[in-house]
Amino acid sequence: MSKTRSASRRPVATFGSRTDVGCIRDHNEDSLVVTPPLFAVADGMGGHAAGEVASEIAIDVLAQRAPEHLDAEALGQAVEEANLEVIAAASDGRGREGMGTTLTAAMVEGERLVIAQVGDSRAYLLHQGSLQQLTRDHSLMADLIEAGQITPEEAKTHPNRSVITRALGSNPNMHPDIYEINVHAGDRLMLCSDGLSSMVEDEDIERVMAHTSDPQRCAAQLVNEAIAAGGYDNVTVIVTDIQGFAEQRKKKMARKTKVHIGIVAVLLVALLGIAGYAFNWWINTAAFLVEEQGNVAVYTGVPGEFLGLKFNHLDHATTVKVDSLSPTVADRLRNEGVTADNLEEANALVDTWISEVGGQANASAEATSDGTTNTESTEGTTSNTTEDQSKEQA
Ligand code: MN
Repeated sequence: MSKTRSASRRPVATFGSRTDVGCIRDHNEDSLVVTPPLFAVADGMGGHAAGEVASEIAIDVLAQRAPEHLDAEALGQAVEEANLEVIAAASDGRGREGMGTTLTAAMVEGERLVIAQVGDSRAYLLHQGSLQQLTRDHSLMADLIEAGQITPEEAKTHPNRSVITRALGSNPNMHPDIYEINVHAGDRLMLCSDGLSSMVEDEDIERVMAHTSDPQRCAAQLVNEAIAAGGYDNVTVIVTDIQGFAEQRKKKMARKTKVHIGIVAVLLVALLGIAGYAFNWWINTAAFLVEEQGNVAVYTGVPGEFLGLKFNHLDHATTVKVDSLSPTVADRLRNEGVTADNLEEANALVDTWISEVGGQANASAEATSDGTTNTESTEGTTSNTTEDQSKEQA
């Protein structure tokens, strides 16, 4: 039985994994760990179930000792500790002498990727639709291909094709290869045991990885392809989508924006309330003076229109003739009007003008509350001014 450690699923899966015994073997000696930011595949060997002991120990030690955050040196150290633990297990009876395991461990954070590599399990990266093998196998075949002695095609059928040149479990001074790679949001990382890479061509891996958007379905589909090709070995696949800093920031921003919109909405309602209250207070308190039928009229509210509405009404008309006032004041009264903070101030202004024009004061009359003024004008004619045209009618 293989052992899988996996983190609780996030709302949106950015990774997926699958392991399968395959069609020939009677048990699965692969192990894996899927606890972001850590992902790892181990392919055990040693026969009589010792391989799965080795891969389980390696994964357990890695999971416990790996750094919490991306750190190449600390990850390499965790792999070395796993190696020592596999060696110790072989001698203290938990496994068998000669057992060993590969270990391909990756840590992803933002747009940085670190890999610690031992053996022939692999890490691949799909970048803009094209597949790239990130790790170099520690295998006899890789050495021979690199030395130009055989072709990759010949390696597939070579009698020594499963010989690996570095593994956990034999040399206490073993060191992993460390890769530090810059990746990009939208890239897809894939880790696998040789049960996939020896059974499925790279271009088929590339096709599945490029066309299966869900990472869990992608991992399952890759395993299916290995089984369909014969499934000669245990096969394990981990697929992780690189979110990158930008995407992580975007998600954070989206959460923040929601909160901000809420706060802004509450503030807006509060502001509208305050503004409405202030406006109401203003139009009920403010006053202004205008010319109406030759005389000065006192209004409460504000002059003119606002959005087609008038916020004023006649308080009273006076008998002060606009023509008798200074030309500047008269001009303003006929046009925009003279504004005052309140009725008191408006009335005080009227009183000032009355005293300025002298005798006019005696001619002033009290305005009736319904806006009708009975006045004895200076010309001696009685005028009955009805304020039907008052601004509040509009
Ligand atoms: Mn294998």
